[in-house]
Formats: sequence, C-alpha cells, structure tokens
Amino acid sequence: MKPFNVRLRFHGDLNVFLGSKAGDAVIERPLAEKTSIKDIIESCGVPHTEVDLILVDNQTVGFDHTLSSDAKVEISPVENRGTNRAEKRLQTIGIIRFVSDGHLGGLTRNLRLLGFDVAYAKTADDRQLLEVMVRENRALLTRDRRLLMHGIVQHGYYPRSQNADEQTIEVVRRFDLSKLVAPFTRCLRCNALLEEATKAEVIDKLEPLTKIYYDQFRRCPDCNQIYWSGSHFAKLQKRIEKIRSRI
Ligand SMILES: [Zn+2]
Repeated sequence: MKPFNVRLRFHGDLNVFLGSKAGDAVIERPLAEKTSIKDIIESCGVPHTEVDLILVDNQTVGFDHTLSSDAKVEISPVENRGTNRAEKRLQTIGIIRFVSDGHLGGLTRNLRLLGFDVAYAKTADDRQLLEVMVRENRALLTRDRRLLMHGIVQHGYYPRSQNADEQTIEVVRRFDLSKLVAPFTRCLRCNALLEEATKAEVIDKLEPLTKIYYDQFRRCPDCNQIYWSGSHFAKLQKRIEKIRSRI
C-alpha cells in the first residue's frame, strides 16, 4: 500500500490531551496501512470517550471508519454542541450511572451527595472497573487515559481538573445532570438509596446530644449509616450550593 498522510485538527478542550495552550492542535500522521479513525485519534493521546464528532474531508464518520489515503480530519469534543449534524454525534449525554476509579473518592462522594449512582471501590483494579461498567451499564470516570481507550469502553469521561468540586461540575455538565440533582438521597459511604427512619428506630445508635436536638433521620438500608441534619449537614449543604451555583 502507498504511504499516506492524515492531518488531524483537534478542537476545544480536546487540546488538554495534547498540551496545546495556543488554539487547536494540528497533528500530522504518516501511515502505511489501513487504520481505523479511532486508532489514529487515540495514537495522538485523545481517548475516544472524549470525541463527539469526527469529520473526514468534511463528512461525518464513526469510530470504525478506516483511512487508507490522504485525509483531513476535524475532531470535536462534547462541549459546544450546536444543532449542526446533531444526529451524527458519537457520545451519549443523558447517562446517570457511573463507576469511578480508586483515585476519584472525592468526586464519588460529591456525586452521591447530589443523589447520583456511583459505584466505587478504592482498591478496584482495571479489570474489575471494566466488569462493573459492562455488567451494570455504567459510564467510566477515570483520569487513566489508557483505560478509557480500551475498546470495550462505550461511555466514559476524563475529569480535566484534579479538584473534586471542579470534577463534579464537569461531570454534571458533560452528562447534563443538573435537572436530576437530588441531594441527601443516597448513602455517601456505600451508594444505596436512603430510607426515612423514625427516631425510635435509630435512637439506640445516637449520641446523647443528637438524641436531644434532632427528630428527623435517614438510614442506609445497606450499611446502616444514619444521617441527620447536624453540623456536618450544614457543611455539605454549603458544598452543594457552591456546586449548584456553577451548573
Ligand atoms: Zn450505606
């Protein structure tokens, strides 16, 4: 096969993967064999989960599309979705179930605080993460690019920030979750949905002052953690308001 040249231009925040600070990165890839567009894009360091639109010589294509001759490729992220070519977008927006890797404990806690379903085990290895993702149809949250590039990953997201509150805002925006926020409905420790509990049901587990000052409780049916609107609650409320004001 005759060697050929692919010219890729990456738009918007895809440039965080390319270290390009001044505008859209352009990368030339000389190739000598038929190659899928997914492999070409990922060889530049951009996971396919971050790519929402691919134009090859101005035609929209999917990840399976292969190239075997010179081409110009435009690659766009999920942000700035116009109405243009809306039907050809590659990513799904309205996903509400996630699995996050062991480094994203803060993000996991925040998302649960907002009521979202996030599977998380601090010690889970890559294989276990992918298993949970497939079995429970969850989107994978990780800052491990290699893992996101795995062919089995359909939905995922790479948090750009290393700060948990910023990551939370990113995920809510990326998956358009702002209308689904339901604070204090899910256990922060184990992800189960909380149930109302009467004071009588939980009283023998409460500290003396809590017994006196509080009357409304929620309990986790899985791990038995009890929640009430104590001083930690006010702190969490503040955090929720801070996140909400940005989404
Ligand atoms: Zn629990």
